[in-house]
Amino acid sequence: MADLSLAQVKKSYGKVDIIKGVDLDIKHGEFVVFVGPSGCGKSTLLRMVAGLEDITSGTISIGGKVVNDLQPKDRSIAMVFQSYALFPHMTVRDNVAFGLMISGAPQAEIDAKVGEAARILKLEQLLDRKPSELSGGQRQRVAIGRAIVRKPEVFLFDEPLSNLDAALRVSTRAEIAKLHRDLGATMVYVTHDQIEAMTLADRIVVLEAGVVRQFGSPLELYHMPQNQFVAGFIGSPKMNFLNVNVKSISATSVFVEGDGIKNMKVAVSGDGLKVGEDVTLGIRPEHVTVVDAKSATASGKIVLLEMLGHQTYFEADISPDAAITALISGTQVFELGQDVRLGFNGEDCHLFRKDGQAQHRLDPPAAVKIVRKRGLQ
Ligand code: ADP
Ligand code: MG
Repeated sequence: MADLSLAQVKKSYGKVDIIKGVDLDIKHGEFVVFVGPSGCGKSTLLRMVAGLEDITSGTISIGGKVVNDLQPKDRSIAMVFQSYALFPHMTVRDNVAFGLMISGAPQAEIDAKVGEAARILKLEQLLDRKPSELSGGQRQRVAIGRAIVRKPEVFLFDEPLSNLDAALRVSTRAEIAKLHRDLGATMVYVTHDQIEAMTLADRIVVLEAGVVRQFGSPLELYHMPQNQFVAGFIGSPKMNFLNVNVKSISATSVFVEGDGIKNMKVAVSGDGLKVGEDVTLGIRPEHVTVVDAKSATASGKIVLLEMLGHQTYFEADISPDAAITALISGTQVFELGQDVRLGFNGEDCHLFRKDGQAQHRLDPPAAVKIVRKRGLQ
């Protein structure tokens, strides 16, 4: 079993704390993605798991065994980097076989393992080429092949698709997802791209400045972000955040008002909130609708407009200080400068306290209930 556990893992460079006490329990066979903005410590955390970086304190275990003091080669991991780090003078076959050759494996075993990796990654026709004769996507597959032949318990990927163009990123992403299904191995994957995280992960770790902000399934993070950072990071275009004030609190909702927002009922818990408190209302652009005057929560003028045919993005000023981004599906045509009335459903809205913590949503959306029932989180 290749469970991977981190307990109070910390890393400092001199006086600067980079990883500030990370606890994670990753299950055998899980695909876990570390996501967060550049510089938040994703690579550092992955390199500590790999043993390429010392940890300042805490414990890392693989398969129940503490690996803090083990060399990378003794940790049963294999790592794939953004830069493929292939040997330019060697063929694909020798690049894939390199680790096995160094460890003195018998030729028959090397041939069998390289053959199997080549089959899984569709590299059979390319085995006698040099890296310079390959495309970026093919080079990345060779780098993954080198990891596969080592039969690690845990695969570690650090932004493996960053050097590929957009189309190749999508197809290679699908190949990595398939590889995970075929091998059933534990995989930990680092990216700054939330779409990559959402599409690949069983569970996502959202990191901000060396702290885990949430660890959950993609739909859990989308529908039930625990704080404003996760709410803003997951989802594109970004969730709208509006300054509002608590007007009243009931058992099933909190009423808010402010910044171009008329009295609005939000289906979240009022626990810990006080009437009169300043809070932040969150609404995703895809949940904003264009409505008639009597059901409008806000109204404003379109100041930015992008029509893609099947959907439209616009930004509307709803007060001198507040604007809303909306993503409207369908072919309805809008104009720059047009007055629009906007409706939000209180069940789709989020509420965040000044410290960024989310008020619990009282009725989790159906998608979250399904995911929870399947036990995917
Ligand atoms: P990410 O992969 O999320 O972009 P990194 O893990 O590479 O971020 O870096 C996290 C932080 O640690 C950054 O602020 C970076 O400058 C710092 N850092 C990384 N390596 C070193 C090092 N060897 N010495 C000092 N600071 C470092
Ligand atoms: Mg990095």
